[in-house]
Amino acid sequence: MNRELTVMAVHAHPDDEVIGTGGILARYAEEGIRTVLVTCTNGEQGDGPGGVKPGEPGHDDDAVAERRLAELRESATHLGVTHLELLGYRDSGMDGWTGNAHPEAFANVPVERAAARLAELMERYRPQVVVTYDEIGGYGHPDHIQAHRIAMAATESTGIPDKLYYTATPRERIRQMFDFMRSSGMDMNGFDLPEDFGTPDELITATVDVSPYVEHKIKALRAHESQGENIFLLRMPAEAQHQAFAAEFFVRRISRLAAPDREDDLFAGLRG
Ligand SMILES: [Zn+2]
Repeated sequence: MNRELTVMAVHAHPDDEVIGTGGILARYAEEGIRTVLVTCTNGEQGDGPGGVKPGEPGHDDDAVAERRLAELRESATHLGVTHLELLGYRDSGMDGWTGNAHPEAFANVPVERAAARLAELMERYRPQVVVTYDEIGGYGHPDHIQAHRIAMAATESTGIPDKLYYTATPRERIRQMFDFMRSSGMDMNGFDLPEDFGTPDELITATVDVSPYVEHKIKALRAHESQGENIFLLRMPAEAQHQAFAAEFFVRRISRLAAPDREDDLFAGLRG
């Protein structure tokens, strides 16, 4: 069976596509592989102009969403995304935020309903490789957890992807990076890494070199200008930024074909 090589990344918010998967999107697009970015929400709970936080007076959800979707389109251009698909759900915000209660908030939508829409996209594009978050959504955001759930449900109901990966942050590596930044005198704004942050390095199954695409990632991240205050990777010294962006890490969760235990390419075994 000859299907066009396709990767589908399933993300929760505009801007989530860059740090963990921007490099593979850019690299695979350049290799002629079809790259489908699915963004589930419109990002209503992001910062408004002047850094107005959600729930604060003057925060206009619709205006924030419109701005963020425009930024997403620009980011996708920098990453060479060939197909951007928006599911259009409302951003739920973090646990405890007022946006959480909205019945149309992504996290409150029944999994089957949203998964059916994602399944339609899988039927249309027939990706061999799907990338999404792990069961805690990387760091616990309810929309990331929901993105994980619908990706798993759609993968199961369609049986389409040959391989499914979780994005991952290698614990040891990120700790070293933080130590480096601290020792180089960078203002960490009181931020400290929780002990159990990220995935133990030995559980990472795929490390993809995306060093030629670091500039693409930085441009894409800068496109999300309205959220700049929350994107501390943008304020890192260039050397640390390069180190942080030059590789992307994944844990293979499903494989329907024979593939090596440790991979440096998500399409290993699929290139015929
Ligand atoms: Zn997010």
